[in-house]
Amino acid sequence: MTASIARAMTETATPLGHLRDRIAHAESIARRDRGATTLIAVSKTRDAAAIQPLIDAGQRVFGENRVQEAQAKWPALQDVTPGIELHLVGQLQSNKAEDAVRLFDAIHSVDRPSLVAALAKAIDKTSRAPACFLQVDIGDEPQKGGCPLADLPALLAEAKAAGLPIAGLMCVPPAGLDAAPYFALTAKLARDHGLTALSMGMSDDFETAVTLGATHVRVGSALFGPRG
Ligand SMILES: *Cc1c(COP(=O)(O)O)cnc(C)c1O
Repeated sequence: MTASIARAMTETATPLGHLRDRIAHAESIARRDRGATTLIAVSKTRDAAAIQPLIDAGQRVFGENRVQEAQAKWPALQDVTPGIELHLVGQLQSNKAEDAVRLFDAIHSVDRPSLVAALAKAIDKTSRAPACFLQVDIGDEPQKGGCPLADLPALLAEAKAAGLPIAGLMCVPPAGLDAAPYFALTAKLARDHGLTALSMGMSDDFETAVTLGATHVRVGSALFGPRG
């Protein structure tokens, strides 16, 4: 067996390798470039011992949903391995905006004017520039966060006026329903507003999201196993 085949087999045999293969397959079905999708490994609730093997396997982009949990976990891991990119995928309180801006390279949950203002202030103070995704409440479920669809144009205008580095849109479709229409609508909204990045797709539906144009998929349990 050649070394490259052996390597390909071991890579595919790990959850990370298997997931990368599935993403690449979805990209090819949709005639998208290989590597067009960034895999965010969502490591919320996982400890350093669970995370380090993924870092060792080459994964460099991770997602967390709570600022305090991420602050407790990541600086030590980042000291050992430089070049890790951290994404905040969970809801953010305005009073944690500065902590979030200091730690995270991207924030996926920008969903209201008060948070836009708090982030703009924190960015100004820290001279950092995390990529901002505007979260849309695509399934009309306010408890999940996200900006009501009708308010998106105004929120986008405010974010632009405040100088936020806007990457694109993020959504979390309703559980238990076919996610495809929600992903398609989010992609259309992004196109309509001239935004290129699309954060959508989780463990159960990331392939669908990739075929519909996701540039960032947020995958937790398919990589780490079920959350306890
Ligand atoms: C937890 C979480 C994910 C990952 O969910 P899995 O189903 O474990 O893949 C993705 N996005 C957000 C916003 C999350 O909170």
